[in-house]
Amino acid sequence: MGLVLWPMFTNAGTEVTGSRFWHGPERTRLVLELSDSVQYNVFRLQNPERVVIDIADSHFAGGAELPAEGGGPVLGVRSGRPTNGTLRVVLDLGAPWSYRTFLLSPNPPYPYRLVVDLSRIPEEDESVVDSSDTREEDYLVVIDPGHGGEDPGAVGGKGSHEKDVALAIANRLKRIINWDSRMRAVLTRTDDYYVSLRKRVLFAMSMSADVFLSIHADGAKRRSARGASVYILSTDGASSEMGKWLAQRENASDLAGGVDIGEQEPILQRTLLDMGLDWKIKESRLLGIELLNAMGKVGPLHSANVERAGFAVLKSVDIPAVLIETGFMTNPDEEQALQQVLVQERIAGAIFRGLSAYCDADQRCPERTQEANVYVVAPGDSLPLIAARLGLTVSELRRADPSGSSSLQLGQRLKVPVP
Ligand SMILES: [Zn+2]
Repeated sequence: MGLVLWPMFTNAGTEVTGSRFWHGPERTRLVLELSDSVQYNVFRLQNPERVVIDIADSHFAGGAELPAEGGGPVLGVRSGRPTNGTLRVVLDLGAPWSYRTFLLSPNPPYPYRLVVDLSRIPEEDESVVDSSDTREEDYLVVIDPGHGGEDPGAVGGKGSHEKDVALAIANRLKRIINWDSRMRAVLTRTDDYYVSLRKRVLFAMSMSADVFLSIHADGAKRRSARGASVYILSTDGASSEMGKWLAQRENASDLAGGVDIGEQEPILQRTLLDMGLDWKIKESRLLGIELLNAMGKVGPLHSANVERAGFAVLKSVDIPAVLIETGFMTNPDEEQALQQVLVQERIAGAIFRGLSAYCDADQRCPERTQEANVYVVAPGDSLPLIAARLGLTVSELRRADPSGSSSLQLGQRLKVPVP
């Protein structure tokens, strides 16, 4: 019997069909797409710091290669073939980072994915949650931009992603909320990376938030479906077929975004089977009614009622929590509109007015200290932007400007009619 020689170029084995990095504040994620399940081994080398990923019996598919640059903590990324059939990926790091690796089963449109998460090794005296920018007396609003990173959410016909729309509106909403002296807003994610549904909830709990707003944009098979809707948690089934289907889709977010089920996160034992649940659902509904009232004045509503469905992201929070679908990515007109700055600002402004009306009635909300119906011009403002934010037309806003001029000055006070 002769020696069995492996051919130098082979189509056997697993193909790596794609790769990408996602950078979050807490970790950097490398995703390798694979044609099949694989055996892999990951280890750390020092001097210089590296994380090495060995994938057995694998090779890059034609045209596929590693990202040209790492980014974040990754100074460089390269591949090699240390032993027969093994594909080695090396991440060059500037400092020691810990890593976790896990394999995700296919979840259309994704094939098998090998995920490597790099996390900064915290200094010993570092606290995990930075709450330095929140004061105890603030009415704290956690804004949760849905999806992110590997999970695009609903995808429109023109290819735009729900995750981007959600983040854009959330950023605008945060800015508007922070102008109100009673409130302060924080985001569960600030860029394009995935945060597990559970971490979003844990974040809100750890901040002792007062309100939780999850921002999304819908997807539906029917392209004509349009308008915004507001959902609250249901413990006994969805209020509509749409709600049921939607909750299934939103709850599948972790499958697309990629969550290591072996990762032990602190378990939320704040059971909601007590009297807190009734309070939370009652308050969430009141909040939802105010949101629909405000949003209905600036755009179409998909449902005029607060809908209920079993959303995972609303489940474990013990504060008023709603999920806002700002429109339909799958409706061609709305997909286009949701990309527009003025539309995003209009929606964010309406959400703020709904929240503000709820806050007025909420005992936990601090007293108003700002003058009502006066708008102070802020950096970056323009007449169209302010008008969109306030739910007005530019000519309505012009009439509110006592000087009658069309130019705006920082700090200028506009008397704003209540929309
Ligand atoms: Zn969504």
